Amino acid sequence: MSKTALVTGASRGIGAATARRLAREGWDVILHYGHSVREAQALARELHARAIQADVTDPAQVEAMFAAIGPIDLLVCNAGIAEYGLFTDATEEVWRRVLGTNTDGAYRCCRQAAPGMIHRKSGCIVLVSSVWGVRGASCEVAYSASKAAIIGLAKGLAKELGPSGIRVNCVAPGVIDTDMLAPLTEADKQALADDTPLCRLGRPEEVAALIAFLASPDAGFITGQVIGCDGGFGV
Ligand code: NAP
Repeated sequence: MSKTALVTGASRGIGAATARRLAREGWDVILHYGHSVREAQALARELHARAIQADVTDPAQVEAMFAAIGPIDLLVCNAGIAEYGLFTDATEEVWRRVLGTNTDGAYRCCRQAAPGMIHRKSGCIVLVSSVWGVRGASCEVAYSASKAAIIGLAKGLAKELGPSGIRVNCVAPGVIDTDMLAPLTEADKQALADDTPLCRLGRPEEVAALIAFLASPDAGFITGQVIGCDGGFGV
């Protein structure tokens, strides 16, 4: 019988690539989305999958989503936003928006998924952090903090849930060519590619492959890890 995976933020970018990859590997994928209803529905048709909407900043919507989907074997916490600008220019509202989406959103999904996994004594969680959560980024301080917190969430959960047979890992993508880079100029992107030892930006499919590996039985003894997919950017 196929296993069920929930991928958050599956309407676009890394989440959509992950949903495609997991579906190809035989997972029954549930596509979560926030606002991009047309993209999510098109992908759901393509993958013969279910799509479900929830704003991860709203605890009630996340709770309702988990009540609607039933048990899952794999949770991929990928939904996230970036905000660019000087720390001294950013308001508390920006800070709350970024941490409320990236960190609290991941927390809420883990909080909803964990009891069922503990009950069944099996499950897997993959959280999408960032190289900036490891290294810190100028002009993305709130984002860096939100992604560093995800690493702590993953490591703590890995220890607490390991005895229940549940693995929890983080992926830390480098610069990946998705809509998230839209505010950057071509020159900015080239500079980031030049700073990457493999001399290019990453593709969403490359992060998806790592997530699928971490979800697979081949990664059965891997938990509490932060694994980069960054062309060497984080080295
Ligand atoms: P993206 O193309 O902008 O996609 C972001 C996804 O998150 C969308 O599916 C979006 O859904 C969802 N989302 C955002 N806010 C949401 C909310 N409040 N409620 C529900 N869903 C929400 O970005 P991406 O590059 O694929 O990023 C995916 C993850 O990878 C993020 O966590 C990001 O921080 C991380 N990451 C990206 C890079 C990079 O260079 N691209 C590098 C490191 C880490 P809707 O459009 O449906 O609202």
